[in-house]
Amino acid sequence: MDREMAIEVRDLVKRFGSFTANDRLTFDVYKGEIFGFLGANGAGKTTAMRILCGLSRPTSGRVTVAGIDSGNPEAIKRRIGYMSQRFSLYEDLTVNENLELYGGIYGMTMKEIRQRREELLQRLSFTGYCETLIQALPLGLRQKLAFAVAVFHEPEIVFLDEPTSGVDPVTRRQFWEMIYETASRGMTVFVTTHYMDEAEYCDRITIMSEGRIVALDSPSALREQHGTASVEELFVKIARPKNTNS
Ligand code: ATP
Repeated sequence: MDREMAIEVRDLVKRFGSFTANDRLTFDVYKGEIFGFLGANGAGKTTAMRILCGLSRPTSGRVTVAGIDSGNPEAIKRRIGYMSQRFSLYEDLTVNENLELYGGIYGMTMKEIRQRREELLQRLSFTGYCETLIQALPLGLRQKLAFAVAVFHEPEIVFLDEPTSGVDPVTRRQFWEMIYETASRGMTVFVTTHYMDEAEYCDRITIMSEGRIVALDSPSALREQHGTASVEELFVKIARPKNTNS
């Protein structure tokens, strides 16, 4: 059965001078799936994700996102949402003001912004915080709101770069419920994470090590192929950085 593709990557290479951060990556992401991107620090995840988002150009290879070639990054940016690793909301604006600002940037009308804002804030149980400044919100709520902003304009694909980093386990669980809910409405979710338990929540995962893909399949298929009880065990077996002894 042919599945529709959200992302197609063929032989993607990204070099910084003589250093190769992405070494001939080839993979597809299907429409509507939750696709996890795993790897140790420096494995090349953010570098690849920035290329997929149209924020950086590949050195070579072919990348198509939402049917658009990476040679047309502005068109890609209009079809996607992106939640960066660094905090992406305006601290001195309120929740409502941030949504208005980003809605405007994404080309939504004020009427659309108001309608969608109500619906979104209710769904995320955020209605009590509309007039709260971002700087007064705890980290977990900020991350949820950053996610809300990334999907506010209903993009086809949302890219999340370590969205739950530093967040407590309960909020992480709630964050994943938001991801499921979003994917169930047909949006494709591309997510990087350091947390191996979160990898188990993905439909399929890619494990990167030193710029290369070393595994790609569903978590259960990978566990079976490698004879490991968990993705964590699998990760230690095939992707542990060479300079660690543990
Ligand atoms: P992390 O989880 O720490 O963000 P990562 O897997 O996302 O790790 P990248 O940020 O993609 O890793 O970095 C991969 C490698 O490329 C690292 O060695 C990094 O130092 C290098 N790198 C990234 N961006 C640049 C740049 N602009 N110039 C030079 N080297 C870079």
